[in-house]
Amino acid sequence: MKKIFLTLDYELFFGGKSGTANSCLIEPVEKLLDILNRYGVKATFFIDSGYLVRLQALKGEYKVLEQEYQDIVNQIEYLDKTGHSIQLHIHPHWEDSTFNGEEWVMDTSRYRLHDFSKKEIDSIVYRYKKVLSDIVQNEIFAHRAGGWCIQPFEPLFRAFKKHNIWLDSTLFKNGKNSSETHYFNFENMPKNGEWNFESDPLKEEPKGFFREIPISAYRLSPLFFWKLAFFKKFGGAEHKGFGDGVAAGGSKFDKLRMLSRFTHSVVSIDGYKASFLQKAYSAFLNRLDEKHFVVIGHPKSMSDYSLKELEKFIINSGREKFKTFKVFKNEL
Ligand SMILES: [Zn+2]
Repeated sequence: MKKIFLTLDYELFFGGKSGTANSCLIEPVEKLLDILNRYGVKATFFIDSGYLVRLQALKGEYKVLEQEYQDIVNQIEYLDKTGHSIQLHIHPHWEDSTFNGEEWVMDTSRYRLHDFSKKEIDSIVYRYKKVLSDIVQNEIFAHRAGGWCIQPFEPLFRAFKKHNIWLDSTLFKNGKNSSETHYFNFENMPKNGEWNFESDPLKEEPKGFFREIPISAYRLSPLFFWKLAFFKKFGGAEHKGFGDGVAAGGSKFDKLRMLSRFTHSVVSIDGYKASFLQKAYSAFLNRLDEKHFVVIGHPKSMSDYSLKELEKFIINSGREKFKTFKVFKNEL
């Protein structure tokens, strides 16, 4: 039976202003749980654990980080204990980011894992998994690449294999981006909805070590992005994202592309994007080749509006359709 995976990338902002743990993570997740608990729905949280590594390293120096670390650890522990699945999200630029006593100073000049040596990549995957494994009771085996930057996978796959991270949920149909910091191109993604691979996630290999469960995608007209920009600016409190930071800007080229022609977007519960959840799900149900409806979200980018849309979606689709990656693994 076709299942729905609700997945959240648990992270701060990486632009000029990181935002606070409280308004980007703790409180939005509590608001999300208010709704999920009403229906007994469980989600998968991809934790930006480079953030945890930095908190751990610096909490002795700054009292505010000590508190932040404790709050974040408590929330992750709670999620793990109550049936949600905790998994790994890697943003390696935390290696170069510092705290100035008031806020995080992000240095994204090494944004992708590819900007590091093979030895460093191995160490990052090991440490970022370990910091999470030390908090939760369940196994960490799934990964989502920071900023979708998983290609080329060749320099990365040995580290993931060594540390037994075998499930990936990064790709999405026709996803494409190229900027100073980002690179990905998923245009030739296998159409199976789920497949095994070895050193290239775009190339199905039945005996491969890794399994891809892509994020669902939906084709959007330029009009959608005009509306999105409008609601962001003039939509009022209901459309205001919960987080108090500033996102890193995409390239001007990409913005122009979205505002001028059809593009594929991930199916998301972030802000106004939640408006096409239901339509994307109906389209998914009509496609025989796709097994899983994987929805992405970021606590920092959710809004009162998007949570309302999520609740409608849970009611319409049925709470029994929802599944976590932990349950997926246990059923293998
Ligand atoms: Zn991320």
